[in-house]
Amino acid sequence: MAFESLSEKLQNVFKNLRSKGRLTEADVKIALKEVKLALLEADVSFKVVKQFIKNVQERAIGQDVMNGLNPGQMVIKIVNEELVNLMGSETTEIALKPGNEITVIMMAGLQGAGKTTTTAKIAAKLKSKGRKPLLAACDVYRPAAIRQLEINGEKVGVEVFSMGDKQNPVDIAKAAIEHARNNGYNVVILDTAGRLHVDESMMEELENIKAAVDVYQTILVVDAMTGQDAVNVADTFNQKVGIDGVILTKLDGDTRGGAALSIKATCGKPILYVGMGEKLSDLEQFYPDRMASRILGMGDVMSLIEKAQANIDEEKARSMEQKLKKAQLGFDDYLESMNQMKNMGGMRKLLEMLPGMGGGQLKQIEDAMDEKKMAQIEAMILSMTPKERANPDLLNPSRKKRIAAGAGVDISEVNKLVKQFEQSRKMMKQMGGMMNSKSAKRGKF
Ligand code: GDP
Repeated sequence: MAFESLSEKLQNVFKNLRSKGRLTEADVKIALKEVKLALLEADVSFKVVKQFIKNVQERAIGQDVMNGLNPGQMVIKIVNEELVNLMGSETTEIALKPGNEITVIMMAGLQGAGKTTTTAKIAAKLKSKGRKPLLAACDVYRPAAIRQLEINGEKVGVEVFSMGDKQNPVDIAKAAIEHARNNGYNVVILDTAGRLHVDESMMEELENIKAAVDVYQTILVVDAMTGQDAVNVADTFNQKVGIDGVILTKLDGDTRGGAALSIKATCGKPILYVGMGEKLSDLEQFYPDRMASRILGMGDVMSLIEKAQANIDEEKARSMEQKLKKAQLGFDDYLESMNQMKNMGGMRKLLEMLPGMGGGQLKQIEDAMDEKKMAQIEAMILSMTPKERANPDLLNPSRKKRIAAGAGVDISEVNKLVKQFEQSRKMMKQMGGMMNSKSAKRGKF
């Protein structure tokens, strides 16, 4: 998980602060020294760290902390606010032209940063927001690039405009925009060529495209795992070509998080999205405030709620509530709620967002809810007849034996599942009872 060790270190610093009744200037200085070390170890650029500590120190050693009622909390609040500032304060969206006017987005980045993948991810996002995107294959140098874009485009249901690898990228961009105009597309996303290193010819090509067509947004894709290199690349691209925003890929594999914390402060351009995996749905909007609270171990409850909302079908949720009230849940419902959790993006990602989920706790819960076990539970439930699923009381030993054989598990696993299910049903009954008595009370008063 990104920021894992930074998060842990900062939480320790704050734990010490919180345990003190009153903070002295020396306490704050010692704490900030540790924060500084933690940030440097997370590969945040030195200049950024220096400024950050200066800002926090100025605010923390001011009257707020000295007169504050709860000085420890005050420091945490200041660090939190300064972390948010560092990452850009506000969430920035990709700017699009209004209505059906065509917005041209140029994607740039070094080879391997994840540009082609991200281009398709962005197309999918825009499509889900009701836009009509067209992808344009302008990387004519890497032999597999066009094909890769076509495959990804197909996966997200977005057309890819290509003219093979014999044409000039500027001509391809022009023709793609023409194609968009004639076919009702309102966003054209140009997948440009990457190079292994920042070089003149790459910059020149991007400048040529910019000069020839009306590029509305230039978005740079950088790999979070390259840390300060990603920050330098962003700075160089911004100076040479001019960028509007950055997409930080592979944040799922970046345990340090230095790039996420330094990019805005170094090149002045915001992070728009972060890549959280290889799947084309693994692209998340970047919220500086949520990221800061994630780093400080306060959990990213907002993201969690949003994810849940996007994935849970309201109709199903209502019918579940009805059943809950009547305590009529069967195994089908059990399976349904399990699948909903899976849809939310896997247990681990979900758990990471919960407040106070440090490494140890996370591991414990993860073990209990591992996805293999979920698959096993699914197999058992699918081996039941519809009647058995609706009415678990039917499950006698011979039926259990049949189910175990069907799912390829030991009968003890089936017993465990039934026991677990009975327990949750009991809990549901109690909850349902509580709901009923609450509404009864409401009626009375
Ligand atoms: P390009 O050369 O910049 O076009 O890079 P690609 O789009 O081909 O991506 C390079 C590799 O990075 C591929 O294996 C992608 O699946 C992978 N990748 C891209 N984005 C992410 C991400 O957010 N997380 C992870 N884990 N892998 C990613």
